[in-house]
Amino acid sequence: CGIVGYIGKEEAAPILLDGLSKLEYRGYDSAGVAVFTGKELKVIKSKGRLKLLSDMLDGGRALPGTVGLGHTRWATHGEPSDLNAHPHLSHSGKIAVVHNGIIENYMRLKEMLLAKGVTFRSDTDTEVVAQLLDYFYEGDILKAVAKTVDRLEGSYALGIVCSDCPDRLVAARKDAPLILGYGKSCNFMASDVTAVIRYTKDVCYLDDGEIAVLKEGEITVYNSILTPVEKQRSRVDWEI
Ligand code: GLU
Repeated sequence: CGIVGYIGKEEAAPILLDGLSKLEYRGYDSAGVAVFTGKELKVIKSKGRLKLLSDMLDGGRALPGTVGLGHTRWATHGEPSDLNAHPHLSHSGKIAVVHNGIIENYMRLKEMLLAKGVTFRSDTDTEVVAQLLDYFYEGDILKAVAKTVDRLEGSYALGIVCSDCPDRLVAARKDAPLILGYGKSCNFMASDVTAVIRYTKDVCYLDDGEIAVLKEGEITVYNSILTPVEKQRSRVDWEI
């Protein structure tokens, strides 16, 4: 299972597919990408090998856009299927989420949201994150992420994109790995440096409870109460 995110000037989908291929060794049963097309978030996902997804996307060419998220899933809640594959869209269609880990209290959260009339499309624990983000979203995606992760129990590496503010990606983690990669006029997030090393060797490791906002030209990392924190960047000195 793995996560990749890209924001910059290049076409995102081929970079996301390439990054996911580097994470294949972690094992997975499904794969998917979400890209902002300039108008909306488009999600393409499928049970099965990455090759299948890549063919569906014509190597990425079929999904133009310069910001997006990719995911390989190792199912824990909900069988491997096209619907349960990530990314998951919120009910408004505005927010897409990729997740590695397990949301232990997802049933309680799901029941709370169902009682409020929210409809679910998948059987995953992850979809509660997407729906909870929509529920808390009042125009500021960073604040919605902080409120959402505050309610989550379990482990997560999260990648989030909102079509109201496609100039940024949001990353958050607890007990699941997530690194940030600093490029030239582009930035990355990934489960592991192998997914980004082809594009940048300048990385930092997100710590538990931190939330990062990635824009094309900068990355800002916040603690759980949204105070910016100074991060130590490191240089990866190996090739793959
Ligand atoms: N628990 C989530 C699911 O089953 C994420 C699994 C993963 O880490 O890939 O969809």
